[in-house]
Amino acid sequence: MGRVYNFSAGPAVLPEEVLREAAAEMLDYQGTGMSVMEMSHRSKAYQEILDTAQKDLRELMDIPDNYKVLFLQGGASQQFAMIPMNLMKNKTADYIITGQWAKKAYQEACIYGKANAVASSTDETFSYIPDCSDLPISEDADYVYICENNTIYGTKFKTLPNTKGKTLVADVSSCFLSEPVDVTKYGVIYGGVQKNIGPAGVVIVIIREDLITEDTLPGTPTMLKYKTHADAGSLYNTPPAYGIYICGKVFQWLKRQGGLAAMKERNEEKAKILYDFLDESQLFRGTVRKEDRSLMNVPFVTGDEELDAKFVKEAKEAGFENLKGHRSVGGMRASIYNAMPKEGVVKLVEFMKEFEAKNQK
Ligand SMILES: *Cc1c(COP(=O)(O)O)cnc(C)c1O
Repeated sequence: MGRVYNFSAGPAVLPEEVLREAAAEMLDYQGTGMSVMEMSHRSKAYQEILDTAQKDLRELMDIPDNYKVLFLQGGASQQFAMIPMNLMKNKTADYIITGQWAKKAYQEACIYGKANAVASSTDETFSYIPDCSDLPISEDADYVYICENNTIYGTKFKTLPNTKGKTLVADVSSCFLSEPVDVTKYGVIYGGVQKNIGPAGVVIVIIREDLITEDTLPGTPTMLKYKTHADAGSLYNTPPAYGIYICGKVFQWLKRQGGLAAMKERNEEKAKILYDFLDESQLFRGTVRKEDRSLMNVPFVTGDEELDAKFVKEAKEAGFENLKGHRSVGGMRASIYNAMPKEGVVKLVEFMKEFEAKNQK
């Protein structure tokens, strides 16, 4: 059997080209006679992999010199604690709750200080992004926190919140490198890479230098201080070396695709195919307010749980994998990250049309 169309929310589809390159280098990485997995992280060959990955990411995102790029471990969830431990100087932070990941980050921050939920869309099952143009931002807030793309619910901030001058911290796990961003609008941008960049086990943190200090909350472990990793160039201890190597290959693939502006165009085109169909279908419908729709995660339902289950089952048999919605919301979700080819979306929509014709309500 060949490769399927994998609509998983994460770990998710990777560019086939990247997987082939990695396979070709598996036993002997560029004449070193060993796999990247077997190599010292202090070796010249590995340092080059790390340096190139960082350089390419900086170029792709146009990251200014006063920001550090850290390749860390612990997934996005580790950052839920690391952010307050490092940034909560006044022990106050404002959180915008647009889904489960934002809520988890908020709950974690409550352990360390006063976290305020200044806006939320929980009243309508997180199907929209609240108006964040004039929030009651706390006078002494150390930062304002958002989850920019809500993987489970399929919403995305199209406009960043008005933080009234406070530092913006954003979890971009599921929209990382999907479109150009203005890094200068953020204090911290971070994401687990297993959604749109690479293998699980790596989290990338892009952080403005003035936020990296010794002044962390008492008891912060050495490994959870940004300064530790910034000072050591992400080599304080053994990094997730193989994962970073794959991320580096994905960065190069993105550059070959034309960079983030080109990715945005492709992602918009792909998402439009699916959303246009959802808008005209008599059977399927999208669950998110139109203006807040994510380009990456597209949840939809038939309105009938049995029919949803039948769709997921038949889709799987036809080679469309992982279309089941998150266990907390049900229905379906198609994650159409950078590496999902347009053809995959076109074929999915064809399949949905056939399913609709056979299952008219
Ligand atoms: C998947 C996801 C997480 C959790 O990532 P882990 O690496 O499993 O901790 C956090 N935030 C968002 C937006 C996600 O999509």
